[in-house]
Amino acid sequence: MVHSQLAFDLFGQEVPDLASYQWIVANVSAGKDSMAMLTELVVHATAAGVMDRIVVVHADLGEAEWEGTRELAAEHAAAYGLRFEVVARTGSGLIDRIEERGMFPSADNRWCTSDFKRGPVRRLFTALVRESEAAGHRGQVRILNVMGLRADESPARRKLLAFSHDGAWTCPCPECRRRRALAEGYKARGQKVPKHAKPGWGASNTRRHVDTWLPVHAWTTADVWSAVWASGLRVHPAYAAGMPRLSCMFCILASRSALVRSAQLNPGPAARLAAVEARIGHRFRLDVSMAEIVAEAAATPEPPKVACWQG
Ligand code: SF4
Repeated sequence: MVHSQLAFDLFGQEVPDLASYQWIVANVSAGKDSMAMLTELVVHATAAGVMDRIVVVHADLGEAEWEGTRELAAEHAAAYGLRFEVVARTGSGLIDRIEERGMFPSADNRWCTSDFKRGPVRRLFTALVRESEAAGHRGQVRILNVMGLRADESPARRKLLAFSHDGAWTCPCPECRRRRALAEGYKARGQKVPKHAKPGWGASNTRRHVDTWLPVHAWTTADVWSAVWASGLRVHPAYAAGMPRLSCMFCILASRSALVRSAQLNPGPAARLAAVEARIGHRFRLDVSMAEIVAEAAATPEPPKVACWQG
């Protein structure tokens, strides 16, 4: 963490020095946490006079997403007059990719996130660096990657820092250099490199310095909804239909009841996934198959009481 770049707001939250970045990239899914993150970012960026540096990015998961998600994300960005970019994996969409790979992603192997979100967003970073260089910028371009992840969502997210450097082996910053030196020392002694000594495989490199900021990391779900209602932004109808989160229609991390509710609302995509599951011979998840979800959705026409999920 680069402490000199942090200040604290009225609520004691860490706020990076937004003016020290050439680009502020706000990752939005159009869900409630993204909406709260965007409203919070806009407050701080307005105060810092850097609204023109924000680029709102939506990683498009195509047919796997709820209908209208991409359009709603664009609407949220437009409400604040912000630049909006859509990124996507080159090649097949998530459902076709599952079929190509012959397997669903899982909690332990979330290739859906790395291939369909992280990778495409990094390509946007590359394009933004080029824009800065074309405009005459010399040296590393500073990018602040802003996301709506919250500690309450899962034990893994609880461990995240609200602000961190997205370090990498090729990043020349002092922190990554220090870690590289430590790692090389361990290697020279034939010892395993401990986690704290690894620069990581983050988004920084010789041309860009990337930090990550989670402005709503400490917020509760109630805090999030308060900010969403106060913003006046339109909320995706999936929430009113009973879904606790907006993600892929059939997220591999979702609770069973959420999957059943989604199958009631999206019978076509549910049937398609069940057919994929049958063709590849790989279950949607160890504890539940899409075939079971489809059957349960058909047998229970009433909306189930939907449990949220961690992930
Ligand atoms: S929402 Fe779930 S299934 Fe979709 S990309 Fe994220 S983790 Fe994977």
